[in-house]
Amino acid sequence: MKLFHDLADIFYPITCPGCGKVVDRDQVWCEECFKKVWNPRLLNSSHTDHLHGCYTLCNYEGAVRQIIIQLKYGGRIDRKRAFPPLLARFPYWDRLSFCRYVIPVPLSKKKWHSRGYNQVDLMFEEWMKKAGKEYLPRGLVRFRAAETQSLLSRTERYENIKGIFHINRNVDVKGKHILLVDDVYTTGATMESAAHELKRAGAASVTGLTIASGAM
Ligand SMILES: [Zn+2]
Repeated sequence: MKLFHDLADIFYPITCPGCGKVVDRDQVWCEECFKKVWNPRLLNSSHTDHLHGCYTLCNYEGAVRQIIIQLKYGGRIDRKRAFPPLLARFPYWDRLSFCRYVIPVPLSKKKWHSRGYNQVDLMFEEWMKKAGKEYLPRGLVRFRAAETQSLLSRTERYENIKGIFHINRNVDVKGKHILLVDDVYTTGATMESAAHELKRAGAASVTGLTIASGAM
């Protein structure tokens, strides 16, 4: 197996998603590009009515922004490799150990069909399972895509997105501490709306985690 990997490295070297430099198979990011985007933190004012705060790993800029966009809109499924090394270096896992269940923010059915996958699953699912968490990819269902959010205020965004998430009838979240995961945290309106539905369905708490955010 080792030999096979050594050979694979020669023929298909792993390159840093930021600069294209050849890097170690387990490392994926070169230290320089990694340091440019890495900014793990609990987001200020992410503690809302239903969301018990939201953590993020990176600033939403540079290489991380680029690979999220490529995975989301460019069909570059191979980009999923960039995320486990980031998750592995997240320094606050001890604060999230009480969350055994992980639920992704879902896509609408229409989007899911045209894209063929939820990019959030590709970013988190495998890693979370290895970490011993229970990943529930269809825990929430999304009834429709949000209208374009970019021109709306925070309150308007929340109104716009309110009630679009529904709990999957076959999933029981009662009394459970849920880790809600998404690719990007912008204003928190999506997370708050999804958390609202999980709390309504009886979840004990909902804490957020995203790959990147432009928020403080
Ligand atoms: Zn690099």
